[in-house]
Amino acid sequence: MPEQSDQLINFGAQDAADGLKKPLFGLDAETLSKLLAEAGEPAFRGRQIAEAIYRQWVSEIYEMNALPLSLRAKFAAQGWRVGRPVIAHTFKSSDGTERYLIDFEEPDTKGKTAEAVWMPEGDGGDAGDEAESAPEGVRAWSRATICVSSQIGCAVNCQFCLTAQLGLQRNLTAGEIAGQVVAVLARQSARVGRDRVNLVFMGMGEPFLNYDNFMAAVRLLVREVGLSPRRMTVSTSGIVPGILRFASEPPDVRPRLAISLNAPNDAIRAEVMPINRKWPIAEVIEAVRRVPLRPRERITFEYVLLGGVTDRPEQAREVARLVRGTGLPAKVNLIAWNPGPGIDYAMPASEAVTAFHERLKGEGIAATIRQPRGRDIFAACGQLKRTVEG
Ligand code: SF4
Repeated sequence: MPEQSDQLINFGAQDAADGLKKPLFGLDAETLSKLLAEAGEPAFRGRQIAEAIYRQWVSEIYEMNALPLSLRAKFAAQGWRVGRPVIAHTFKSSDGTERYLIDFEEPDTKGKTAEAVWMPEGDGGDAGDEAESAPEGVRAWSRATICVSSQIGCAVNCQFCLTAQLGLQRNLTAGEIAGQVVAVLARQSARVGRDRVNLVFMGMGEPFLNYDNFMAAVRLLVREVGLSPRRMTVSTSGIVPGILRFASEPPDVRPRLAISLNAPNDAIRAEVMPINRKWPIAEVIEAVRRVPLRPRERITFEYVLLGGVTDRPEQAREVARLVRGTGLPAKVNLIAWNPGPGIDYAMPASEAVTAFHERLKGEGIAATIRQPRGRDIFAACGQLKRTVEG
């Protein structure tokens, strides 16, 4: 169908001529089908392209075997590309964790990378609530978590976080967010639907300050890539308008919700997380209450323990009171703060972490301690800052 192919390549050809080549990655099957139909190609070619980039994880147009060779050649000649983000650098931790610098290859952002982290065997805290047994004998890892970035840098300015030092550089697009996941799945030869892979949107950035792109990425990951939203957790610093929007998302594309609490009360939280001055704890909780939970689903409260600041025993009791007072099915995920250059906090003593955990449990609060992962490669929580040391 040579004329049809010619019509197809006229679609967006202006952009290609300008050097602004649009990536296919990020468009869902419906959009692709519509675009191809408009260009005079059979609409099913759109579904084939979606299948190739989201299920077979091809990274080059030439690898789309279901498309006629002539069509692939013309696509490529016009500058179309898959446009999946590329793992530009990998740092490997002694504990199996891998930290990736992800390059988006856009002309104006070349060299501006975000980060993703692969944690085989999960991180002990955010891997969902269901007690499932891992499939046997399928991998050295039968369970893993991918930590995904939603922005390059971050504007929220949490005082304990290295990413905050970058400031916000830009929002990532839906394709760039979902593309990190597919790039990592492909690198690990993961098998969607068989391997137990969890996603945590807790990398660089505040997902709810890039809401539309973040949710579009989730829809791609659920509907095109085939991942379950029940295996995804999004963490927010407490962006109330974002939480309210999230509350109205349909459950089939709504990840689990985690609130980055990090302090027992507003006074301390406002010091540690200045965003608390805009949306104090009570307002955040009020918004969280609007989120309809699925059976057995719980809200996670992330709590970074800063030595001498938020790790004191009486603060554990205050946190327990606060969480109980929400009336929500909830758990607390404790994270011992990871040190970073230029940040003036102290790590909590391991006895303080244990005591805090015990006290929460003693107060009847479900609580876990997140195992620090990849600390030696700056991959642990709050350490993502495009650090180039490995
Ligand atoms: S902890 Fe999260 S929200 Fe806070 S500054 Fe760091 S990346 Fe942003």
